[in-house]
Amino acid sequence: MNISILTLFPDMFSGVFHQSILKQAQERGVVTYDVKNFREYTNDKHNRVDDYPYGGGGGMVLTPQPIFDAVADLKGKSSSSKPPRIILLCPQGERYNQKKAEEFSKEDHLILICGHYEGYDERIREHLITDEISIGDYVLTGGEIGAMVVADSVTRLLPGALGNETSAVTDSYSTGLLEHPHYTRPAVYEGYKVPDVLLSGHHEKINQWRREQSLRRTYERRPDLLEKLDLSEADKHFIRSLRGDPKKS
Ligand code: SAM
Repeated sequence: MNISILTLFPDMFSGVFHQSILKQAQERGVVTYDVKNFREYTNDKHNRVDDYPYGGGGGMVLTPQPIFDAVADLKGKSSSSKPPRIILLCPQGERYNQKKAEEFSKEDHLILICGHYEGYDERIREHLITDEISIGDYVLTGGEIGAMVVADSVTRLLPGALGNETSAVTDSYSTGLLEHPHYTRPAVYEGYKVPDVLLSGHHEKINQWRREQSLRRTYERRPDLLEKLDLSEADKHFIRSLRGDPKKS
């Protein structure tokens, strides 16, 4: 997987891409990050990448030329025969979630475009990109933090990125549920005990406890997620018991 980032602030990425899992994933050859300043592509003699909006109004708008040319350059250099996903970070885009991260993780090349100022010339949206992604219903100063969110969430799904392959599989949202609680040593801390079942060594019971905790947590915090799932009879029975009604579904 190659993740290219087009930004006016490449230094913002140095911390995030050189620490922890993302650093290790690059060292293991699982992913490469290619952070480019799209100002390098401008044809403007003053090096500008933005201009005033037609029709007036406040704020500056990113011009199409540097971004179109930067994407063409990256596509030309791509080693994959599969066309890249060209993703515009934008508060008006599709809301990002784990399903989208899983979809992106199956690609060979992602190009993430980080906006700034008032936004982009609409022709970028209309004629260049394949996806528009919002990381939430709020407005950030620029697309860089969103690009980091996408790069991080996609990288941890790539085979070999995590030391323990199973940890991404059981993560919240990957299973459709929120993950069960975790405990570690000591078994008693300041009088607070770890649940007995986790110390029992009985794997079947531990798995059942985890499944029920996961269902409970999702029921309490994100009941909307349960509606989309195909649950087993045992799961449904457990949820009915949480509602205090073991008979009705
Ligand atoms: N005027 C724009 C609007 O109302 O839709 C907002 C522009 S915002 C100040 C500048 C840039 O930050 C955007 O072009 C986008 O790249 C990025 N951005 C802001 N909020 C975002 C969000 N929730 N998700 C993804 N990117 C965001």
